[in-house]
Amino acid sequence: MPEMNYAKKLRGWSLRDAADAGQLLEVTCQFCRTTYRFVPHDLLKLTTNVSLDRLASRFRCERCNRSDYMGLTVRQIWGSEYGKLSVRRLINVTTVKRPIWKDGVL
Ligand SMILES: [Zn+2]
Repeated sequence: MPEMNYAKKLRGWSLRDAADAGQLLEVTCQFCRTTYRFVPHDLLKLTTNVSLDRLASRFRCERCNRSDYMGLTVRQIWGSEYGKLSVRRLINVTTVKRPIWKDGVL
């Protein structure tokens, strides 16, 4: 896998670019060393087409509940990895109804 200058590379590479290139996004919590892999197409259902350097900070680690140690790398998939690599897929998006109240007089 070609290593890249990541900070620079991610700034010029967007979610859509990664999706079109058939890449996966690996988000790793440097604090507890947990890695989550995402399919860019899934993330495009949740956010606009942002550049990848702006994405890492939007994840939170489910294991240690921290978001300040998240790092993101792009991973090119090799044919031999199909059927083996664990990936987190989006199955549904729900909308939470949150009431907003205002006190007034009748
Ligand atoms: Zn963690």
